[in-house]
Amino acid sequence: MDPLIQALDIATGPVDPSGLPHLKDHSIGSLRTKLVEFGLPSYRADQIAGWLYRRGVDDPEAMTDLPADLRVHLASEWQTRALEVASVLRSVDGTIKAAFRTWDGEHIESVLIPERARNTLCISTQVGCPLACSFCATGALGFTRNLRTSEIIDQVCRMAEILAADDSPESARGITNVVFMGMGEPLLNLDAVLETIRLLIHPKAFALAPRRVTVSTVGVLPRLEPLLAVAPVNLAVSLHATTDAVRDQLVPLNRRFPLAELLDTLRGLETVTQRRPVFFEYTLIEGVNDSPEDAKRLAPLLAGIPSKLNLIPMNGHADSPMHSPDDATIDRFLRIVAGSGLFVSLRRSRGLDIDAACGQLALRHVARAAASVSTGAPPRWAR
Ligand code: SAH
Repeated sequence: MDPLIQALDIATGPVDPSGLPHLKDHSIGSLRTKLVEFGLPSYRADQIAGWLYRRGVDDPEAMTDLPADLRVHLASEWQTRALEVASVLRSVDGTIKAAFRTWDGEHIESVLIPERARNTLCISTQVGCPLACSFCATGALGFTRNLRTSEIIDQVCRMAEILAADDSPESARGITNVVFMGMGEPLLNLDAVLETIRLLIHPKAFALAPRRVTVSTVGVLPRLEPLLAVAPVNLAVSLHATTDAVRDQLVPLNRRFPLAELLDTLRGLETVTQRRPVFFEYTLIEGVNDSPEDAKRLAPLLAGIPSKLNLIPMNGHADSPMHSPDDATIDRFLRIVAGSGLFVSLRRSRGLDIDAACGQLALRHVARAAASVSTGAPPRWAR
C-alpha cells in the first residue's frame, strides 16, 4: 500500500468503551452478515434499516414489527445512536448548521442548504483534517480521528430530525442530496465512506439516487476507482490552481499527487470515459490564483475531461490571511473561463453569518479540545 496513505489511514474510528457493536456501523449487506453471526435471520437487517433510516427510529423497543426477544437483544447488545446534537444555528438565508458530539467528546459539523427544489446536506468524515490546505479552517484544526460509519450516517439521521421539527414547506421535502464536503478528506476514510454511501443509496435505507450523492476530494488518486466502483456518485475535485507551484502551496497533498498525475488519472476513470462530468472546485483567492493567466490555463488543463467548474470566492476566517478577490476580478475570471468554452458557475456562499460556508467548519461556537488544535507544523509529506 502507498506509504503516505498507510500513514494517514487509521482504518476506522475508535469504538466506545462499552465495546458493543453499532447497528449504524453497517450497510444493510454487512448487517445481514453480522446478524447471522448472532444466530439471527439475515432479513431482519432490512427491517431494522427501515426503522433506523426510513422512519428515523433509533430505539429498538419502538421497532414494533420485530419479535420481542429480538428487540430486547438489540437494546441490550447493540448501540443505535452515535451522535448527540450540541447546537443548531440557523442563517438568515435558511441554511442550518448543526454541531454534533461524539461519544468521546469530539465535535463535528454538518450543514443543510435548502435550495429551490432540494435540500442538500453537507456532511463530515473526519474530526479535523490531516491535509492542512492553507485556506481551509478545518485544515487549521489539525487531525484528530476518522469518523465511524455510524457517526457519518447519524449526521443524516439527526439533521432529518432537525428538519422534520421545522414547519416550513421546504422541510417537508426532507434531505434530497448529500455532499461529502464537510470536515475531513473522505478518501482518507474510505471504508466508512463506502458503507455510508451504501446506506444512502439503498432502497430500504435512504434510497437516494447515486447522482444525488457527491464526494469531494483533493485527489487521493489510488482511492478514486474503489470509490466509483461502489456506486456512480458524483465526483468533485478540489483543484484551486493551474500550476503545481501554486497548488503545492494551497493543497500540500499536491506534492505527492501533482496536477498532471491527478488529471491523467481522472481521464482514465470509467465514469469520465462515459462522459459523466467531474465537478471541479476552484476557490478564488486574491493575488494567489485569480489572474487572467490562471483563467486562460483552465480549459487546456481540463481538456479531455467532461468538466463543470465551480468557482467559490474564498470565505475568510481567522486562521488564514487569505481572502476573496473583489467582484470585478471575480467577474473577469468568470468571463474568461466561460469564453474558453468550459461549463462554469459561481457558487454563492450560503450560511456565511453562521460560519457554515465552505471551509469555515471549525467549531468556533463550541469549545474545541486542545488536543485537536494544530501545532501549525506542515504535514509530514510536505516537509
Ligand atoms: N477534503 C475534501 C472535502 C472538504 S472541503 C476536499 O478538499 O475536497 C469542501 C470544499 O471547500 C473544498 O473544495 C475546499 O477546498 C473548499 N474550501 C475549503 N476552505 C475554503 C474557504 N475558506 N473558502 C472557500 N472554499 C473553501
